[in-house]
Amino acid sequence: MDSSNQKLYDTIIVGGSYAGLSAAMTLGRSLRNVLIIDSGNPCNRQTPNSHNFLTRDGVPPEEIAKIARDEVSKYPSIELYKGFAVNGCKISEGFMIKTSDSNLFKGKKLIFATGILDSLHDIKGFAECWGISVIHCPYCHGYEVRNKKTAILADGDRLVYFTSLIKNLTDDLTLIISEINASNADNIAILKRNGVKIIEKKISEIQHHNGYIDKVIFSDVTSESFEAMYAPVSFQQHSGIPEELGCEMTDVGLIKIDEAHKTTVDSVYAVGDNSNLLRSVSLAVSSGSVAGVKINGELSADMFSE
Ligand SMILES: Cc1cc2nc3c(=O)[nH]c(=O)nc-3n(C[C@H](O)[C@H](O)[C@H](O)COP(=O)(O)OP(=O)(O)OC[C@H]3O[C@@H](n4cnc5c(N)ncnc54)[C@H](O)[C@@H]3O)c2cc1C
Repeated sequence: MDSSNQKLYDTIIVGGSYAGLSAAMTLGRSLRNVLIIDSGNPCNRQTPNSHNFLTRDGVPPEEIAKIARDEVSKYPSIELYKGFAVNGCKISEGFMIKTSDSNLFKGKKLIFATGILDSLHDIKGFAECWGISVIHCPYCHGYEVRNKKTAILADGDRLVYFTSLIKNLTDDLTLIISEINASNADNIAILKRNGVKIIEKKISEIQHHNGYIDKVIFSDVTSESFEAMYAPVSFQQHSGIPEELGCEMTDVGLIKIDEAHKTTVDSVYAVGDNSNLLRSVSLAVSSGSVAGVKINGELSADMFSE
């Protein structure tokens, strides 16, 4: 990539949602020149209301993001660029980022606040209900569907733990599982002992009105009505640039970081959902702030010793 005649930012932040904006605020308040590159596609965009973030409980997610953008844009050393970062490479002054419209930006430090992409089940109606009545997290939306007739579409090692969290919120709980086999039979037995109903069938459709679930249709054409469904899903990274730069990933596909949110590549940080399985607006904001503090510390130390 050609790096000629480009402004050198103190930090480029790729991803300008909660985690990225929080990092930007910390750096902007420390007079650092910051460029945020954001494509405007946060993971919670379909959910009507975001919960469990102090002072903004129940507020639409985009409203929280707008307030954050307005606050951040008051700091004159912060620039926001609407676009998608497609490549990154190391250069002598730090890093170069290229956007899909072929613009090039240079920064001494990099923060990835790029989030993750949820891999939704390929079930008719699932995507339309995602974040509305088909939810991934009891802390984000569980209170709103407490005491409702609820389904869980899940399997795997954490099934018992996950179900126990939801059982605390509603007694009318049904696990829908496509197959009971040797690997999940013990877990299913525990759930049954705790009053969870079990349906061993494949789902062919979720019928809904405007994303609010009415009933689940099974592949044998029987159906069952529900008011809410929990469905943890797998994910992939939203951006491939961290790996391109050599950042190590964890076994579950997150960007590997230390407690300061540093990746395994010097001067590259990762914040928010891309590096933390505990997904929440508050934790994303917190991680951005930590990375901002650490980067400002490094930049200050570099200037001081010169
Ligand atoms: C359906 C749903 C509902 C949720 N509800 C709640 C809730 O009620 N309460 C709560 O606390 N949490 C909730 N969460 C979790 C919360 O939304 C996330 O933890 C939070 O959004 C993570 O913030 P982030 O900044 O890390 O990533 P995101 O908010 O996902 O933002 C990532 C940003 O990076 C941008 N980006 C990615 N790659 C690039 C690139 N290469 N170039 C430029 N830009 C890029 C994206 O466009 C996006 O704007 C919910 C999540 C989901 C999926």
